[in-house]
Amino acid sequence: MPDFGKYTKELKKLIEEANHILLICHINPDGDAAGAMLALGRWIKARGKTPEMISPNALQKFLLWMKDVDKIIDFHHNAETGTRIIKEADLIIMVDFNSSQRMGKAEQLVLASKAKKVMIDHHPDPDNLADLVISDVSRSSTSELVYFLVNGMEGSDYNDIEFLTAVYVGIVTDTGNFEHGYYTGDTMRTVGHLLDRGVDKERVFNHIFSNFSADRMRLKGFALHSRMVVHPELHTAYIWLTKADLEEFKHVKGDTEGFANMLLSIYGVVLSVLFVERTGFVKMSLRSKGSFNANDLSRKCFNGGGHRNAAGGEMKGTIKEVVQHFENVLPSFREKLEKAATEMVR
Ligand code: 5GP
Ligand code: MN
Repeated sequence: MPDFGKYTKELKKLIEEANHILLICHINPDGDAAGAMLALGRWIKARGKTPEMISPNALQKFLLWMKDVDKIIDFHHNAETGTRIIKEADLIIMVDFNSSQRMGKAEQLVLASKAKKVMIDHHPDPDNLADLVISDVSRSSTSELVYFLVNGMEGSDYNDIEFLTAVYVGIVTDTGNFEHGYYTGDTMRTVGHLLDRGVDKERVFNHIFSNFSADRMRLKGFALHSRMVVHPELHTAYIWLTKADLEEFKHVKGDTEGFANMLLSIYGVVLSVLFVERTGFVKMSLRSKGSFNANDLSRKCFNGGGHRNAAGGEMKGTIKEVVQHFENVLPSFREKLEKAATEMVR
């Protein structure tokens, strides 16, 4: 990203000039969305301002231990307060998303607001929604980006332990505890700094990655055993789960997290997809390896988006129809799939 110093200066000025700051993250917040919002909120608070925080819907259980999480307004369940806060804001900072739809029911209010707007994100091709767009796809996570922005604004290392912990949550979430995603030497130097300053990595790991039910483990076994399809010639594997499957294994939100990633460990597979049936539509998670662009496939076929190697989308219809649609379009990506697969065994 060019001229980081300029962004830091502009962001600092906007924060200093604002009286009612609102931070908002994307719907179904993950550890990066929550981590980036809480980390930035923590610093703004330390500067003597009280930022409001909104999530378009409720945070999942595995994030509820985080400091100040109780200050986040869940717009879905508390639309009245959320609406008032959006209307009052004179600075709105959007974190960890690149398109306005990701704000769910808060979208129209935010778009209508006359507040100055900032977008801080690491997804490619951000929509032009803000006065200041700080978009850096070279960061593992928005939380990592927030870490550098805050240190820049602070003028030295900001070493508040809750800030550092929130940044760490974002980084381990978006890299699957350093297993996938995009991370760099910079990320690891940041992680080194976070651990040196006392971030409790076991505590974070247990909350984020060891928080599942026994039923979820059984659902995972069932998905791999009975609902996995592999197309070796197309370097693709997928899992499809019906609503009835989810009910049978007492599914709760977040239970299928990580299922799409698993299939990438099959030899030769560079694209994996998880299809999950909801009421009237199907939600999909795509993961890919190397040069195969899951974001591109998701945009073209499922009206979705995301990163090159991790994307998502949704489509109306039954699970059978949506999986058939995928089966129909997949061969048109054959060359790109083969190219990525060849590069994988270099
Ligand atoms: P996940 O598969 O973990 O839900 O999402 C992976 C990535 O895909 C997310 O970081 C997000 O950027 C993107 N994503 C997921 N669902 C959607 C969607 O419905 N629309 C768009 N545009 N992006 C999505
Ligand atoms: Mn992220």
